[in-house]
Amino acid sequence: MLTGRRALVRVDYNVPLSESGDVADVARLEGSIPTLNHLVDRGARPILLSHLGRPGGKVVPGDSLEPVAAVLEELMGRPVRFFPATDTDEAVESTRILPQGEVLLLENTRFLPGETTNDPGLGQRLARLGDFYVNDAFGTSHRAHASVVGVPSSLKPAVAGLLVEAELNALTRLRDDPARPFVVAFGGAKISDKIPLMESFLTRADRILIGGAMANTFLAALGRPTGKSLVESEAIGIASDLLARAPEVLMLPEDLVVGEPRTTGSTRVVPADEIPAALAAYDIGPATRERFSAVISTAETFFWNGPMGWFEAAGYDKGTLDVAQAAAVVSESGGFAVVGGGDSARAIREAGLDQRVSHVSTGGGASLEYLAHGTLPGLEVLDDDQS
Ligand code: ADP
Ligand code: MG
Repeated sequence: MLTGRRALVRVDYNVPLSESGDVADVARLEGSIPTLNHLVDRGARPILLSHLGRPGGKVVPGDSLEPVAAVLEELMGRPVRFFPATDTDEAVESTRILPQGEVLLLENTRFLPGETTNDPGLGQRLARLGDFYVNDAFGTSHRAHASVVGVPSSLKPAVAGLLVEAELNALTRLRDDPARPFVVAFGGAKISDKIPLMESFLTRADRILIGGAMANTFLAALGRPTGKSLVESEAIGIASDLLARAPEVLMLPEDLVVGEPRTTGSTRVVPADEIPAALAAYDIGPATRERFSAVISTAETFFWNGPMGWFEAAGYDKGTLDVAQAAAVVSESGGFAVVGGGDSARAIREAGLDQRVSHVSTGGGASLEYLAHGTLPGLEVLDDDQS
């Protein structure tokens, strides 16, 4: 029975704030509401813990969660209180007097010196804020911080919230049981962020499409000219190694859209092995877009991480949009398509296609780490190991 019990819920309200302190994007708040309503409907009293920004273990007024409480109250249509401390007796008292039907948000956990170092004393003290623990902060679950790992080590029961459950359902299916053909598309800036994930898919995916700046590093590994393109020189060796291990799985662009470095305006399409010395590649070209879309359309399971180009800039967003569109087609023809990664998730939302794919992971780094390793520190400490 949950009636009257204090549910200490770790949420991820690390939201962008505008200069005037307004919440610029409410997606993370909205994502937590099903879990909060579920708890309130069963008589529990939700007490929320979150971090915001990188205040570095001290109070930074600009990183206060106070403005978030008002926005959450509006979105939920029920009273949301805010208490301006977390690790104090007064904060504990504020949880005890919270009326049923209301929600309480405590101050930024990263104002506390022991949060990111997972100080065991802090974890135990924060455990006094609730009668049981709910992790609904999937995007933070790869961090062994006090509010993610320390608290649920001493506060039981410790369970996964609905957001975490939805993430795990989608990512586990992708990891353990992908229907074939299984196609993966990687893009974005850096290979080095994604090596464990790429390696784990190298033997499990039928095809891995490479776009974005990452493709430049692969081209460099093949000895092709890359002009002024973004190349991760430290990762050229890894790129050669991946190419050597699975040449039939990896598919590189055949043409690219190039232009003046860091400027938009006039662009040109060139074969992928002919990037001019003075120019940079910022998107996959039309032939590659067509080929990638065709390969993706054969997939029963599709995973996409990393934009296909400098999609924030006009003229370089077509590759990313086409892959987003192809992902929607996979889902809508009965396949399973998942998008993971902070910028890729933003790209598919901006394209208005996020509702048309099977799952958009909110996790960013956490999703990639879960896919690579099959577990996360914040999940391992939950009851029945939810990982
Ligand atoms: P995600 O957050 O989805 O994992 P990344 O963080 O790896 O993606 O990469 C996203 C960034 O990579 C975007 O800001 C995008 O502009 C940049 N990017 C992608 N392709 C290129 C390119 N060819 N040249 C320069 N930047 C690129
Ligand atoms: Mg990113």
